[in-house]
Amino acid sequence: MEQTENVQAVKKDDIEIRIFREKCIGAATCVVYGPSTFDLDEKSIAVVKEGQWDELEKIISAAQSCPVTAIEIYQNGKKIHPTT
Ligand code: SF4
Repeated sequence: MEQTENVQAVKKDDIEIRIFREKCIGAATCVVYGPSTFDLDEKSIAVVKEGQWDELEKIISAAQSCPVTAIEIYQNGKKIHPTT
C-alpha cells in the first residue's frame, strides 16, 4: 500500500483505488455502497480496506456516490472514474 499525506492509493490485481483524503468530508456514502472496500478512519475520513473488496460495479457506485469526487478508480492503469 502506498500512502502519502493526502492520497491513499491501493492496487489490487488490475484495479487501483485512490482516495483524495483532503477532499473527503466523511459523508460515508462510499461505505454504504462499498462496505467491503471503504471504511472511515478515526477522523471520519475514508480509507480503502484490506482484504476482499466488493465487486467492481459496487466500487464504481461508491465512487459515484461521493459528493466531493474524492475517489478515483483505475483499471489496468486507465481511469474509469471519474471519466470527465
Ligand atoms: S463518499 Fe466521499 S466524502 Fe464521503 S466518506 Fe466516502 S470519500 Fe469521503
